[in-house]
Amino acid sequence: MAVTSSSMLLRNFSTAGKVVQSVRATSRIVFSTGELIRVLPYTRSSRFICSTRAAHNEEAAAKAAAAVADTGAPTIFDKIIAKEIPSDIVYEDENVLAFRDINPQAPVHVLVIPKLRDGLTMLSNAEPRHVDVLGKLLHASKIVAEKEGILDGFRVVINNGAEACQSVYHLHLHVLGGRQMKWPPG
Ligand code: 5GP
Repeated sequence: MAVTSSSMLLRNFSTAGKVVQSVRATSRIVFSTGELIRVLPYTRSSRFICSTRAAHNEEAAAKAAAAVADTGAPTIFDKIIAKEIPSDIVYEDENVLAFRDINPQAPVHVLVIPKLRDGLTMLSNAEPRHVDVLGKLLHASKIVAEKEGILDGFRVVINNGAEACQSVYHLHLHVLGGRQMKWPPG
């Protein structure tokens, strides 16, 4: 996937080893197979991220959710982990749960979450103690892609903060595939 070097939003400025240190509170992190990790930096204009009416609704929901982001309050994902509400589970192990997104944005859209949140409401809260589980989440994403038959082309996204339209404050990786992805992601 080519990078549009003329766009400020699309500058590659991070490599895999530095992503946790580089991420800001309002950035969107996109991993794609076969390329470096990219981090889209903070932009003052949220229209870059949410430009349609539907997306503005998403933005409003994300900003409302951000108001309770770091209270440590339970989220809907706690109920999914506890199996108190149903979900379509694709993969599960001791540390990770992967289930289909209720509002899929691609033929394959699976959320990969840590079973123990441990302060990881969002990636920008990552601490050195989280390195192990962060690796497990990425590895689980690969397993999900394999199980879903999209290993040759898939995208892993973490929305971090309101300006990236994060709406659930329990760290989650979106695994997307089954269609041609576009760039920029919008
Ligand atoms: P975010 O916007 O925070 O990056 O992603 C949260 C995702 O969680 C959204 O894509 C949304 O569709 C999904 N989601 C929210 N509530 C539920 C739910 O109850 N079940 C499932 N399976 N997905 C959910």
